[in-house]
Formats: sequence, structure tokens, C-alpha cells
Amino acid sequence: MAAVRAYFNNIWIALTTVAVGMKITFKHLFVPAVTLQYPDVKLKLPERARNRLYVNIDDCIGCDQCSMVCPVDCIIIETIKSTPDQDLGTTSTGHKKRLHVPVFDIDIAKCCYCGLCVYPCPTECIVMTDVYEFSEFDRNRLIYSFSIMTPQDIELAKEKLKKAEEEAAAKKAAATAAAAKAVQPSGAQALKPASPEPGTPEQPGNS
Ligand code: SF4
Ligand code: SF4
Repeated sequence: MAAVRAYFNNIWIALTTVAVGMKITFKHLFVPAVTLQYPDVKLKLPERARNRLYVNIDDCIGCDQCSMVCPVDCIIIETIKSTPDQDLGTTSTGHKKRLHVPVFDIDIAKCCYCGLCVYPCPTECIVMTDVYEFSEFDRNRLIYSFSIMTPQDIELAKEKLKKAEEEAAAKKAAATAAAAKAVQPSGAQALKPASPEPGTPEQPGNS
């Protein structure tokens, strides 16, 4: 008898549990949904949300300010000076470009999204975007390279700079030599012994 009572008790508990659950579900049919059908529907981000960085390399003057301020050193920039015969143009903010930027890498896996790199940029070319879905299986794919210089461009820029520096050094050396030559005759004159006055007796030891 006790076993039969336990059997029906279990059925009763099962039915009431389902009824309670269905009551809660039924109630939620009439309240507005608080969830989104992500990824088909996405939340609108706040205006100043900080996500993936982007660099408009055409406007970068290679000043390195963003890299210097980064607390985790995840921005790597290398530059090559342009030569006097090269015109790299100006940025959209009117800044003259004087440096080639062969390397501009951001290791976004290290980035803590502090946004500190954005504020000091004089040309406003490094910005936070609203892109937050960029997970990767390979960590190396999280190193973003923004430079658009090809290896040939880099080699050419380095060669030009080397040649210009050698020419400048040669000009400087020639100018120094010419200046030294210009002052030499008066110096040599000063070192010459004064010729004895006519009639002055010869000093002992002079022959
Ligand atoms: S957001 Fe912060 S951590 Fe990320 S690159 Fe900029 S300065 Fe560095
Ligand atoms: S601060 Fe701006 S202009 Fe200067 S190197 Fe960084 S991105 Fe380029």
C-alpha cells in the first residue's frame, strides 16, 4: 500500500512541477523580451565604446606618440627619414609627412583597450572602432600590420637615405678640409722663424 501511495505521490509531484514551470513560461509570453537574437541582432554600442583599433596609415606621420604612451607596448613603429628630393605629401589635417612608416604593427591580443594611444595622435589617424568580434584561432593573426610599404619600397627608401647621408657627410668633410686649408697659410707664416736683420751677427749653433 505504501508503495502505491509513493507511486501516485511521484506522479503528483511531476505534474505540479510541470504546471509551475508552464505558469512561469506563460507569464513571460506577455512581457517584453530582454534578450537579443545575437548574432543576427546586436546591441547598439555606446558612442564612446572602445573596441578594435584602426590606423589610417595615409595620415600617419610616424611621430611615435601613440606607441610611447601605450602602457603594454603593443604598438611597434619603425620609420625611415625621407630625403630632401622626396615629397611624402601632407595628411588630411595638414601635417607635412617627413617619415616613411615601413612598420606599424598593433598586437591587439595584448591591447587592454585603454584608448590612451588615441588622444595624443596629432593627425587623429588612430581610432577605436565599433568592431568587437575578431577572435582568432591563431594568436599571430591578432597582430595587425597597417603599413602599406612593400619590401621593395622599404629597401629603396633605406638606400636613398643612406646615399643622401653619405653625400652630406662627404660635403661636410670637403667643407671642413677647405676651411682648414684657408686658415693654413697664416698659421704656417706664424711658425716660420723670423729672418735675421741685416748686419746681425749669427747666433752660435746657427750654420
Ligand atoms: S588602447 Fe591602450 S593598450 Fe591598446 S594599443 Fe592603445 S594605448 Fe596600447
Ligand atoms: S600618434 Fe598618430 S601620427 Fe603619430 S605615429 Fe601614432 S598614429 Fe601615427
